[in-house]
Amino acid sequence: MASLISCPHCGVRPKEEFSIRGDATPARPAPMASDEAWHDYVHVRTNPRGRIREHWQHAAGCRRWLVVERDNFTHEVFSVTDAATAQGGAQ
Ligand SMILES: [Zn+2]
Repeated sequence: MASLISCPHCGVRPKEEFSIRGDATPARPAPMASDEAWHDYVHVRTNPRGRIREHWQHAAGCRRWLVVERDNFTHEVFSVTDAATAQGGAQ
């Protein structure tokens, strides 16, 4: 179980200090993109098993948005980066 998350700003912290927003891989469409593109961005998600990238917020710490790469089956955490600097991170 991934009980510890290494926040790039605060160091190693318990996972209970974080909240999960979800999949960090969908790319935000252009403002005038089709309704279908926006529908897919907002509502359509895959449900993969294995290595995934998610947005996590360090809600009880620095409150920064992070991109956590982890395995959702084994809960092994591979990397944690600030979403502002992560490729494909928060916008
Ligand atoms: Zn933090």
